[in-house]
Amino acid sequence: MGQLVNSLSGAIQLTVTDQLNRPVRDLRISLTDRCQFRCTYCLPAEHVDVMRQQSQSENCLSFNEITAVIKVFARLGVNKIKLTGGEPLLRKNVADLVSDIKSITGIEEVALTTNAGLLGQVLDDLVDAGLDRITISLDALEQTLFEQITGTQFQVEQILNSIDQCLDSKLKKVKVNCVVQKGINENQVIPLLKHFRGTGVVVRFIEYMDVGNLNNWKASEVVNSKDLLDQINNRWPIKPKNATHVGEVADRFIFNDGQGEFGMISSISQPFCHDCNRARLSTRGEIFTCLFANQGHNIKPLLNQPEQLLQAISQIWCNRADQYSALRQKNLKQENKTKKIEMFVIGG
Ligand code: SAM
Ligand code: SF4
Ligand code: SF4
Repeated sequence: MGQLVNSLSGAIQLTVTDQLNRPVRDLRISLTDRCQFRCTYCLPAEHVDVMRQQSQSENCLSFNEITAVIKVFARLGVNKIKLTGGEPLLRKNVADLVSDIKSITGIEEVALTTNAGLLGQVLDDLVDAGLDRITISLDALEQTLFEQITGTQFQVEQILNSIDQCLDSKLKKVKVNCVVQKGINENQVIPLLKHFRGTGVVVRFIEYMDVGNLNNWKASEVVNSKDLLDQINNRWPIKPKNATHVGEVADRFIFNDGQGEFGMISSISQPFCHDCNRARLSTRGEIFTCLFANQGHNIKPLLNQPEQLLQAISQIWCNRADQYSALRQKNLKQENKTKKIEMFVIGG
């Protein structure tokens, strides 16, 4: 059951758990709901008009407002921040935000997820500001397929160059996310691993998820991670690797020949709601307690009142009972046509 417990001698650190006894540890922040890409599974090109109606920059939380929210979450035990979107690097001066976040007591790690379109110009500043980790989305090595999936003519070569730049930097971890869609890019799994094996980059294959409504998701378009693992194991023998922390979303695997590791994010076939400790903050100042939520909690009016904000966020977390993917797997959510928040709004 949800509880709010005073802990630690400093009396400023609180522990809050939700209805399923899960603490909050990870905050994902959508810096913008705009994006220059039009990935078919996230923001399909035919819905560009919808994008125009998304928040204008004046409605976005300022960096000061974002850090005010992070300070409160840090008091509740959040130690990891992920900056995402939309495309987070469409916001100017993200490095300033990174350095502000790094100075907040309790925050141990700041990560960024990006399509890398604008990364080359700002990577050095981000690293100097203290960014710890980066995840770059790349669904195909093949240029034509990449263009088909992302709705852009951006060059794969340029993304690969940005990844190399990341590897040469002081970043602690460089990951690549690949959303696998049946009949679309399954054939990119082996080439992606072949390209990144032995480089230190951890590729993570994500089962295509039913986030939002615009992508018109169908279960038949999902490639089960187990099938991919068989395929990979046939090419390069692999073995599982233990998780390093509670709430880790990816199952990790190591190549037996010592050429590194990769991950599988299997939200559809093997949901991980039981230890989900992630909260999300939208660019409009709403807290979401699940990726599949159909509504958020507006905390914008409380941003200048830290104690009231703390109470409000604690209450939101205490009331949380989300386990969408676990319920979906039990078929309770089959043929679910409810209105959900889009991925580019809620923050991936
Ligand atoms: N624009 C940035 C990017 O693409 O990396 C950050 C935001 S994006 C929403 C975050 C991650 O969500 C990306 O790795 C993307 O591939 C993933 N994603 C988006 N829609 C998805 C879906 N329907 N199923 C699974 N992953 C999805
Ligand atoms: Fe943009 Fe990222 Fe969504 Fe692709 S996945 S449309 S890059 S926000
Ligand atoms: Fe967490 Fe919701 Fe995903 Fe379950 S479905 S793992 S509760 S975000």
